[in-house]
Amino acid sequence: MIRINDIVDEILKYNPQADVEMLQKAYVFSAQAHKGQTRLSGEPYLIHPLEVAYTLTRMNLDVPSVVSGLLHDTLEDSYVSKEEIEKYFGKEIAELVDGVTKIGKIPLKTSEESRVENFRKMLLAMSKDIRVILVKLADRYHNMQTLNFLSSEKQIEISKETIEIYAPLAHRLGIEWMKEELEDTAFKYLKPAEYRMIADKIAQKKKERDEYIGEVIGILKKRFDQFHLNAEVSGRAKGLYSIYRKMTQEALNIDDIYDIIAFRVVVNNIRECYEALGIVHAFFKPIPGKFSDYIALPKANMYQSLHTKIIGPYGEKIEVQIRTHEMHKIAEEGIAAHWKYKEGKVFDAKEDKIFAWLRRVIEWQHELKDNKEFMEIFKIDLFSDEVYVFTPKGDVRDLPKGATPIDFAYAIHSELGHRCVGAKVNGKLVPLRYVLKSGDSVEIQTNPTHKPSKDWLNFVVTSKAKTKIRQWIKTEQREQSIELGKTLLEKELTKHDKSLAKLLKSGELQTISKEFSFETVEDLFASVGYGLYTPLQVLGKVIPEGEKPSKLKTLISSFKKGRDSAIKVQGIDGLVVRFAKCCNPIPGDKIFGFITRGRGLTIHVADCTNVHAYDEQRKVEVSWQLNKDFTYPVRLKIVGNDRKGLLSDISSIMASNKANIISAQAMTYPDRSAAGMYEIEIGHMSQLQKIIKAIQKIKGVRSVERVRGTI
Ligand code: MN
Repeated sequence: MIRINDIVDEILKYNPQADVEMLQKAYVFSAQAHKGQTRLSGEPYLIHPLEVAYTLTRMNLDVPSVVSGLLHDTLEDSYVSKEEIEKYFGKEIAELVDGVTKIGKIPLKTSEESRVENFRKMLLAMSKDIRVILVKLADRYHNMQTLNFLSSEKQIEISKETIEIYAPLAHRLGIEWMKEELEDTAFKYLKPAEYRMIADKIAQKKKERDEYIGEVIGILKKRFDQFHLNAEVSGRAKGLYSIYRKMTQEALNIDDIYDIIAFRVVVNNIRECYEALGIVHAFFKPIPGKFSDYIALPKANMYQSLHTKIIGPYGEKIEVQIRTHEMHKIAEEGIAAHWKYKEGKVFDAKEDKIFAWLRRVIEWQHELKDNKEFMEIFKIDLFSDEVYVFTPKGDVRDLPKGATPIDFAYAIHSELGHRCVGAKVNGKLVPLRYVLKSGDSVEIQTNPTHKPSKDWLNFVVTSKAKTKIRQWIKTEQREQSIELGKTLLEKELTKHDKSLAKLLKSGELQTISKEFSFETVEDLFASVGYGLYTPLQVLGKVIPEGEKPSKLKTLISSFKKGRDSAIKVQGIDGLVVRFAKCCNPIPGDKIFGFITRGRGLTIHVADCTNVHAYDEQRKVEVSWQLNKDFTYPVRLKIVGNDRKGLLSDISSIMASNKANIISAQAMTYPDRSAAGMYEIEIGHMSQLQKIIKAIQKIKGVRSVERVRGTI
């Protein structure tokens, strides 16, 4: 439990001249006003104003704010009058308490209209004295901590309002810790299952994560020391709600412990910020497009830092924020960091130039008479990390930053997304990958026969668009495979004087499906279409023993347990694949699959020269499933000046990189040059690249080249 002495101790830390007597007086006043009152938790009511006042000291606020925290519920819940407060504490504090009380009277379960009215009141109070909203935030903060004593209906109502209005307000005022805690608590009530899942996962991986954080801090510190840069380095997991948001918006995998950690580097001045950035980028590969300079271009809430993403020691993505101590103070305390503790100086949002946003809101407050319009614009500005665009009818849609017309179309309706062929923004035609900006008016053009494209997945950002496109592709591919499988089976059956229709009618095909562990006949067709089974294999169950070709079994067994398990096809498991001889793909190569009639799926590299000849309809998206102990043949052509020991130098590099040499042919030419053709076994692209690099460094070697196809 917080005591008045704790509050006094806290405030004296950052404001040694604080009027302690005034604080003591407010404490006694509040204790008398709330005498005999209890909260729903059964605790004495006084605990609440004490908690609120304590939170205000965490925000480094001045004495009048903290006093108002102690008194904030006296007008509402007891028989104290504004005049009385003014008599004991002066006009400034009386106004503050009155301001908080007015916006406090927001009855729950009100109409949208009266809610908006309340927000306007809040903003009006804020424009007179910004401390009103800070006290209100501290009040909401403690109410969220004790939300478990309310009915579940109220819990949800209050949490919604907190996540929609109060958390973004805290963010806007630059008080990040408050924003994060408000969000996380509201998240717990709004999405209990998701909250639990993330909280549990975070707790499970704590040790692993702490070790990893320690390791990265160690590496960074060592590099900074090397350059005599005095920097504080820290790392921590992000808030639960922001992890959840990342998971839904960016398809983040919660098991990936790295993506949820942010590292922070704090240095002495701006010059050192850029120095630190240079050092970080010199030792870790930066990810292109992931660098933001909020020092040159501060955020609306005055936040400043350099943000970058780099590839860490294990190939993982790491977020690093670099800032000065002063910037750090602003990032932590927000608006209070700009506070001046001079006597009688009140923070005036109208005059202070640091909060352009606040001034803008106050202007709207006067200009926009229509409540709905006001709320729309207010919300647009509150969530600056989202873009707000308009439908042709003038409705507002909020989309995450980076959203495209396709995201917009799917946000409205799945069918609109599927049939989207073009888009007009503000009346002009734009490409489908155009990035929408706030205020854009978007019109989607459709064609009833149009189908989604796989390419869209490369640029859409909303999870709705992503899942809908994927779903469509999966269904489409399955339909194609069923069709193909059916055709193949029919052809094979005719050869043996059988008919598919008859087998279906007799129920024989249904029985065969069960034997292959498929639920339906369609699944069986699809498996043939995908190449999981050959038509002959299926028909082996129908055709008499003597007619069965024996070749079939060996084909299957040689691939079943072989390299093919390194291939993953979207949505399908256990596929039999073969690797194209024309291009010999190895893990790390960009690849695609091609259904060869009766021969299953063949894997080619994406830029295989034979590709043009292939039927688009039979291409299948595939990817490598790594960490398998299989090897792939690769041919290397090495040209160099013939010298003694060249061959043994090359062989020893292959050996030291654990590449098995299958065959080697070497020849020398009259001009004393030598060419060698090596066939080696490789596990992964990176291994091959290492070998090629090492061979290039051998004395006398002129070129190393990977040779595709057969010699
Ligand atoms: Mn309260």
